[in-house]
Amino acid sequence: TTVMRFDHVVKKYGGSTLAIDDFDLEIGDGEFVSIVGPSGCGKSTLLKLVMGLEPLSGGAISYSADARSVSAMTGMVFQQPLLLPWHTVLDNVLVPSSLQSRAQRKADQGWARELIEMLGLEEFAASHPYQLSGGMQQRVGIARALLHDPRILLMDEPFGALDAMTRDQLTMDLLRIWETDRKTVLFITHSISEAVLLSDRVVVLTPRPGRIADTIDIDLPRP
Ligand code: ADP
Ligand code: ADP
Repeated sequence: TTVMRFDHVVKKYGGSTLAIDDFDLEIGDGEFVSIVGPSGCGKSTLLKLVMGLEPLSGGAISYSADARSVSAMTGMVFQQPLLLPWHTVLDNVLVPSSLQSRAQRKADQGWARELIEMLGLEEFAASHPYQLSGGMQQRVGIARALLHDPRILLMDEPFGALDAMTRDQLTMDLLRIWETDRKTVLFITHSISEAVLLSDRVVVLTPRPGRIADTIDIDLPRP
């Protein structure tokens, strides 16, 4: 089943910069789709359109019939993990819980601990962000995005700010997590190797304006 669908999506900034031109894509349940392309080709713009942070200039983005609100549908991982420095790891993972009912907040506590363990951070639940490496901070960001079990995980260059070794390690970790919990993922990166390793499908964008240059189905045995 299709979880998310882009239909002839167009985005112009300020009436002049054409960032995305006629973008079509269907993402199926449990599919891992990467969007690759050089800097400035409109990758971040696509995610902003999905999140409703920017209005569309044309076309439509739709969700499967059982979709809840966009915020419940999606979990977002940014290039910078944007953690609250004065909160512990556990409390950072629980940030999306703060607006929930008391009963839900209680239920979230247990799940947050499980996620922290799944991401290999169990020893750091009570630590503060400044005590963690960049890679560990990004794991906290991933756990936070997974807290409310979104239908789609959106990731915008999640490893972009990390050194090469940490980046490789986190790529493998993400693969492992994804194998146990087959989430639908829309992954933005400028790294072709990362995209090929992680994805079922790689969508390649042209530089300015972003148009689909190629779509590649990946059928690699996963490690
Ligand atoms: P990235 O390539 O990692 O997406 P950029 O440096 O291109 O980062 O952009 C950083 C931020 O600045 C983004 O939020 C983007 O939307 C915004 N931005 C990029 N280009 C412009 C521009 N010409 N005018 C205003 N904001 C811009
Ligand atoms: P990428 O994420 O692939 O680096 P972006 O989506 O950030 O690309 O940007 C795509 C194009 O849109 C770029 O030419 C960028 O300068 C422009 N752009 C991005 N955000 C803005 C903005 N807020 N205002 C004007 N132009 C923007």
